[in-house]
Amino acid sequence: MKINSAEFIISNQDVSKCPSNRLPEYAFIGRSNVGKSSLINMLTDFKSLAKTSGRPGKTQLINHFLINKNWYLVDLPGYGYARVSKSSKAKFQKFITKYFEQREQLVCGFVLVDVRHEPQKIDLEFMEYLGESGIPFSIIFTKADKLKPNALERNVEHYKKVMLDGLWEEIPPYFVTSSTNKAGRDEVLAYIDEINQN
Ligand code: GDP
Repeated sequence: MKINSAEFIISNQDVSKCPSNRLPEYAFIGRSNVGKSSLINMLTDFKSLAKTSGRPGKTQLINHFLINKNWYLVDLPGYGYARVSKSSKAKFQKFITKYFEQREQLVCGFVLVDVRHEPQKIDLEFMEYLGESGIPFSIIFTKADKLKPNALERNVEHYKKVMLDGLWEEIPPYFVTSSTNKAGRDEVLAYIDEINQN
């Protein structure tokens, strides 16, 4: 898919105030510093569509960007644990779970994980929450350029094994990306394009 236009539309914390037309949307989420803003800028080819910053936990907003005037890219805030948490759902900020549960035009969530790290409990729990809630998602491994090919493959295989040893019977679609060298860009955009065509 060629990106011809990318426009910021609206930021808010309230799912009922998100755009009301029925264009399909794709939401990007992960822990802060995972490389989400860099990935969004890399995918859209706009240098500062999403604001990158080393400061964790900055914005707690749902940001809608209209791409090619026919789909939304949604930049969600980094998730974090609630201090007291009982169910897996209660662990995540309420407006995030509300977004996933109420946003009917959401086609797919992209959960970003840093490919250098051991699978993190919070990421696995967020994916479990999505799975339990019947929300389709894919995994995007970020910062692939930081590892040599062997280590990269080893980490991805390890991640899959941890999921299969846990709750999962199969691995959701996944992409290995780098915002530095644009690895995975064509694959992620082709995936979105293919879903949009159907
Ligand atoms: P966010 O908090 O998830 O939006 O993360 P950012 O996009 O702001 O990135 C956090 C840090 O990781 C910044 O210093 C980025 O330059 C760096 N970073 C993000 N993606 C990549 C990548 O693909 N490769 C490398 N080498 N660094 C990255």
